[in-house]
Amino acid sequence: MKQDLNNDTDDKRHSVLVIDDSEDVHRLLQARLRQENIDLLAALDGRTGLAIAEQDSPSLILLDLDMPDMDGFEVLRELKDGSSAHDIPVIVLSGLHSPADKVVAFDLGAVDYVTKPFDLMELRVRLRAALRMSDLVDMLARLAHVDGLTGLWNRAHFDDRWAACISENNRHGRPLSVALFDLDHFKSINDTYGHPAGDAVLQSFAKLIKRECRASDIPCRYGGEEFALIMPDTAPEDAKFVCDRIRTELAALSWPAHPERKITVSIGVSGTDKSVAVTPEQWLEDTDKTLYRSKKGGRDQVTAIDVESGNMVEASAKAA
Ligand SMILES: [Mg+2]
Repeated sequence: MKQDLNNDTDDKRHSVLVIDDSEDVHRLLQARLRQENIDLLAALDGRTGLAIAEQDSPSLILLDLDMPDMDGFEVLRELKDGSSAHDIPVIVLSGLHSPADKVVAFDLGAVDYVTKPFDLMELRVRLRAALRMSDLVDMLARLAHVDGLTGLWNRAHFDDRWAACISENNRHGRPLSVALFDLDHFKSINDTYGHPAGDAVLQSFAKLIKRECRASDIPCRYGGEEFALIMPDTAPEDAKFVCDRIRTELAALSWPAHPERKITVSIGVSGTDKSVAVTPEQWLEDTDKTLYRSKKGGRDQVTAIDVESGNMVEASAKAA
């Protein structure tokens, strides 16, 4: 799955792997599919096809059933049996007219079949339909990780990425920081101005975080009026700098629905510039305590610590 919030699949170029023992078929498809927005990869036998599928993860596979040594059924079986390419849709190319073969191919996980000698127009539309379907599946998988109200990543995505970032830090000592944000007195916004006004605040704040963070950062809605920002390759000093900017920008915003009322945020940051042995849970707990210090200290402020020593950290002076 793509890890970009602004990912757009509309103009995505697909690659299609053709596994067929006939050179003629490859030549024919190269010539006749030239107009399609796809890159063709070619394999003349099943073993090579499986290797290319694993390595290049094409968007789709066209698979000949009738091949010497390893036939298409065997290829399908291996592909679907725990290979990293098991999600790639497969259209079977079959010279066999037996309905039983088609049933077996479908049972093994093929999404469609085309009978040889194939009609190129038919192959083309089936190819397009299968690619469209696979784009939709990708999009649904992505939406399952996006928060509906704000368009930021959701908690499930945060949990995945946070665990991955921690293991990167543990293994390679890459700097890592995380920030937790809690909008100040948010409940009273909802109570005073109504939930639509509250939602507008959440959406505007989400937009602000997205605008102010760097492309490599991972902005998430953590739950309710809480947000989180994972900052890979970022020392806590630099993370505090980024968060101070977000805090200042929010306090400066004016709100059409309630111009007399400022909105502020309290932020806790924790991070490190070297490999540390802290569990994802412990790290978050420490960040939460840091956030609580910002709340207790009077809100509308950023508190940052070094996650290993627990020492307070000041913002770097550099302009990010
Ligand atoms: Mg063949």
